[in-house]
Amino acid sequence: MDLFEYQGKQYFQRFDIPTPNGAVADTVEEALAAAEQIGYPVVLKAQVKVGGRGKAGGVKVAANADEVRTHAGTILGLDIKGHIVRRLWVEEASSIAKEYYASFTLDRPNKTHLGMLSAQGGVEIEVVAEENPDAIAFISIDPVRGLDLETARRWVAEANLDEAAREQAAELLVKLYTCYVEGDCDLAEINPLILTPDNVVKALDAKVTLDENAAFRHPEWDEFRLTDTEDPREIMAREKGLNYIGLDGSVGIIANGAGLAMSTLDVVNQVGGSAANFLDIGGGANADVMAAALEVINADPKVKAIFVNIFGGITRVDEVAKGVLEALRRVTITSPIVLRLDGTNAVEGRAILAEHLNDKLITEPTMLDAARRAVSLANA
Ligand code: GDP
Ligand code: MN
Repeated sequence: MDLFEYQGKQYFQRFDIPTPNGAVADTVEEALAAAEQIGYPVVLKAQVKVGGRGKAGGVKVAANADEVRTHAGTILGLDIKGHIVRRLWVEEASSIAKEYYASFTLDRPNKTHLGMLSAQGGVEIEVVAEENPDAIAFISIDPVRGLDLETARRWVAEANLDEAAREQAAELLVKLYTCYVEGDCDLAEINPLILTPDNVVKALDAKVTLDENAAFRHPEWDEFRLTDTEDPREIMAREKGLNYIGLDGSVGIIANGAGLAMSTLDVVNQVGGSAANFLDIGGGANADVMAAALEVINADPKVKAIFVNIFGGITRVDEVAKGVLEALRRVTITSPIVLRLDGTNAVEGRAILAEHLNDKLITEPTMLDAARRAVSLANA
């Protein structure tokens, strides 16, 4: 889950990472009230989950109430790369002497954490990496050993941060690393990390991606979800513990195993259809899981046909068949269901369904046949 900048800054504050004071505002009046409270000048910042807001006109300094009115009015409703601005972050304006870049992310191939630090911040790090790769100091952090202050001090020196910034930056980086690890982030990025003319180092921007796999130990993340413009189908699926990703097509997909689910999307595409979702019910799925999966797909108004593609391994096809019948008892499934059932207990599974088959509950012998049938029903 990606956080808005203001949420990222609030998250940083829990780990004692210095950020400017600010407040959220959803209207011009709220922006004005916040600015009066904070004191001028303020910066008005578009809260959208996309970078490059500055260039797109989503970050403006306001020296007085009139400027707040003008800028807030312009930024609210602005379309930044397809994201409409509905919320502002009003922040005390900072004076900037230097802009740096700092981030931590996971280095999967090396099974370590990766820190990136540059004295050339404020611009996209991809651009720095392209034009001046030597300006980025990389650090590989063993997750067992972590990042200590000594190492952080060497790192800021290597990155050529200004003398005046080094000690504060080193301390901040250790805190950012703690935030990244204990806060279960996939990414914790500050761009720019600034040095002010009076030699204060702080995070002027915040880009935080939380690791959803760690959500179970962070009940406090729920507050972030409330503001998330998440796909309602995905919310429903998560509540039911399903591995679901919403797509735009008309064929609802249920498969067991991520690989088979992906292949199912491909086959549907190949025969001229488009998938409404990815849904992997996993190994060992029982009747309950199958019923939950059908309920989620049934709730999607774009779905015109449902393709259930099961190859029983650990998952037993008879359990899946029971799940389909259970779902049909629990909810009125609006779209026809095409099943391809193979593997462990397939014969028993098909027998369970045999007497229930009709024009809305159909079985096909192969994946390709089932895909063709589902797509023709969806396009009918
Ligand atoms: P982004 O464009 O989405 O990355 O948004 P940022 O929060 O990084 O802001 C973009 C740029 O606006 C920064 O690199 C700064 O140069 C400038 N900026 C943001 N806040 C302030 C501020 O408080 N004072 C000044 N002088 N400039 C700011
Ligand atoms: Mn930025």
